Amino acid sequence: MPRPIQAFIHSNALRHNLQQVRHHVGDAKVWAVVKANAYGHGIERVYDALRAADGFALLDLDEAERLRALGWRGPILLLEGVFEPRDLEVCSRLGLWHAVHCEQQIDMLAAHKTHAPHRVFLKLNGGMNRLGFKPQSYRAAWARLNALPQVDEISLMMHFSDADGPAGVAAQLATFEQATQGLPGERCISNSAASLRFGADARVHQDWVRAGIALYGSSPNYPDADIGTWNLRPTMSLRSRIIGVQALQPGDAVGYGSRFVADAPMHIGVVACGYADGYPRICDTGTPVLIDGVRSRTVGRISMDMLAVDLTAPRAAGKASGFGSEVVLWGLASAAHGAAALPIDEVAAHGQTVGYELMCAVAARVPFGQE
Ligand code: PLP
Repeated sequence: MPRPIQAFIHSNALRHNLQQVRHHVGDAKVWAVVKANAYGHGIERVYDALRAADGFALLDLDEAERLRALGWRGPILLLEGVFEPRDLEVCSRLGLWHAVHCEQQIDMLAAHKTHAPHRVFLKLNGGMNRLGFKPQSYRAAWARLNALPQVDEISLMMHFSDADGPAGVAAQLATFEQATQGLPGERCISNSAASLRFGADARVHQDWVRAGIALYGSSPNYPDADIGTWNLRPTMSLRSRIIGVQALQPGDAVGYGSRFVADAPMHIGVVACGYADGYPRICDTGTPVLIDGVRSRTVGRISMDMLAVDLTAPRAAGKASGFGSEVVLWGLASAAHGAAALPIDEVAAHGQTVGYELMCAVAARVPFGQE
């Protein structure tokens, strides 16, 4: 018998979330960002639901290969461009569009002998100081690319650093507009946070938006806004079961380091889920879980393969919670438990991280299902 842990992907929620992003960005085209194996969901598992996007954006050539193997004939954008001259051959073979963010990538294109036309997205460093040309060198980079016979079309891109926070997008939007003024080509600057919060402004949504986390049902600006604010639905649920029960007396401790000590008689359930499954070790005592659809909490330290949960709340709610009970670590309970919801953002906040990291960290040993 396999361990009872399983992750579920909710395809209808992916479809719904894509529609919600569209709702915020008018007639802008939407890149579905599927890097990091579709934020841990699995490219093959999300493809059918997200193929209504206008294109897929990702980093790895093998992920682009997988999309083509699934039958996707539309645009694919390599968000960081290429790192080796031979990657340009792959771009040509697979018909990939690619970001160009540094002189070395222009050098590679200039030296590339196969003159298959390349469509590139020239990246502006608008203040994030991660990738891209500074505003003062952007036009020169554009002119260099424009002079290359290897380049067919140049689009203009940037990535906001604070779209999810109080600074917002105004300053970097102004930088983008100034740096690109008068240049031809499609424009693409917004991620999920910019699209949801400011996408009604055509200057923000431009021609394309790059939506990742919103598609995967996590709020880009939690806790200021939860997924309900954006009318998004959870797309991934991590569920397991109780594989052991312990009765505790006052003074009894739980798990490594005895970090939780009972102050009254209580029962705990031991769940087949640990940090080797991708559940954050930092989420000890107090992180919310659903047991048989009822909210409860973790108790004690998270082990490699197990964690403990407090059975008080579900038993008080009349559930016979014990061996075999369903425990939701994030996402939705099964239909048998009324599809109760535990937002991934709430769990992530307890782990001092973001929904992105939890989804991406689900371990390879966790089997996936679709629901
Ligand atoms: N564009 C770029 C360049 C990115 O690096 C990312 C993700 O980190 C995205 C778009 C999508 O961002 P989000 O998942 O916040 O929508």
